[in-house]
Amino acid sequence: MDKDDLVQTISSAESDDVFRLLSWFRSERVKQANVMVVGCGALGNEVLKNLALFGLEHLVIVDFDSVESSNLTRSVLFRQADAEQSRMKALVAAERLRDINPALNVLPLLGDITHDVGLGLLRRMDVVVCCVDNRWARYCLNRLCMRAGVPWVDGGIDGLEGTARVFIPGKNCYACNLGPEALRDLSFRLSCSSVVKRNEQAGRVPTTPVVASVIGAVEAQEAVKLLHPEELDQGTLTSLCGKMFYYEGQYLASRIVDFVGYDADCPVHESWVPVSPVPLSTRMRVDEALDCLSEQHSCREVEILLPDHSFVDYLLTREEERKFSVMVPDYEVERFVELHPVLRYMPFHQLYQHEWKSLDRRFPYPSLTLREIGIPEWDILPVKTEAGRSYVELVDELNYARVLSKTDEV
Ligand SMILES: [Zn+2]
Repeated sequence: MDKDDLVQTISSAESDDVFRLLSWFRSERVKQANVMVVGCGALGNEVLKNLALFGLEHLVIVDFDSVESSNLTRSVLFRQADAEQSRMKALVAAERLRDINPALNVLPLLGDITHDVGLGLLRRMDVVVCCVDNRWARYCLNRLCMRAGVPWVDGGIDGLEGTARVFIPGKNCYACNLGPEALRDLSFRLSCSSVVKRNEQAGRVPTTPVVASVIGAVEAQEAVKLLHPEELDQGTLTSLCGKMFYYEGQYLASRIVDFVGYDADCPVHESWVPVSPVPLSTRMRVDEALDCLSEQHSCREVEILLPDHSFVDYLLTREEERKFSVMVPDYEVERFVELHPVLRYMPFHQLYQHEWKSLDRRFPYPSLTLREIGIPEWDILPVKTEAGRSYVELVDELNYARVLSKTDEV
């Protein structure tokens, strides 16, 4: 053992001792937990740093962005060289977190929570911590967590202000808490079948490292509390679920207000159970997947539903009826149009989008893979047969499994 190892061993032992002084802290439980952090900006950096210090050993980081110089003033895990090389935030964060806690297993997932994270992976999480800056991403994450029955912690920062909230399926729902203006924005987005589904971008919100530290600390603390359900039930610990923590840096004020909503008719409260494993992967073709599901369900007619996105095969111009082949998931159409030499100059209202919301034997492109249709790895698919609706998990691609503490059936 060299000197560095010795220092590390001593410091790990010391931190274990310190945490043991907390009567409620279950060190083994924390070490075995799987936690996902979505978004690796100012807030994500603070949350990840704190979770690593708390001794977590299994983390998934979801982020699609690269490090820029403007991130460096409020991101403890990034350095100038990362910005110069435009390195991916999730990869850099994973590397730096292992410096803080060498026992940490980190899976950096370079993607967008709105369409790149499989529900099979997400349902293995004990808690998800959300550090994004827009409503659409929160809405999508809430929907996934409801399906999987996983609690999540939300944080938001703006200038000298910040908020933190906790949502637990069955108790509190992000969608049920949205005000009329937010609902209007989202309902447009959800019902919109036109070419453009613009991402709601909060733009460049002025944030400070201090507010990110305060809110990130509250988020990490709430996440660690959620890893202690018995203590929460007994009242040894209290949760922010049903409340909102509000911090106002200008006057150093903080308060907790009631923030609970769980409406009976909310469309996102569907729990996707039971889930059956099927030997499928997103590398398989649509026709192979249908064959496999037919066999599994002992019936010829099966339909794979695409509840969150569609597959767009072509765009049609309304006036001249010119047809442009597209062949991408709907969330990639806008980028496709921007890069197209002709379509990019056409007003969006001139374009009609032809799309598929499900896959069955009539789908005209059976040789495409499920990934090309836009289905993320290790996802769960709703399948319709004569017997009704069921949920199948694509278990033939558990290449993420090594990072998690438990991959058995949940
Ligand atoms: Zn709801």
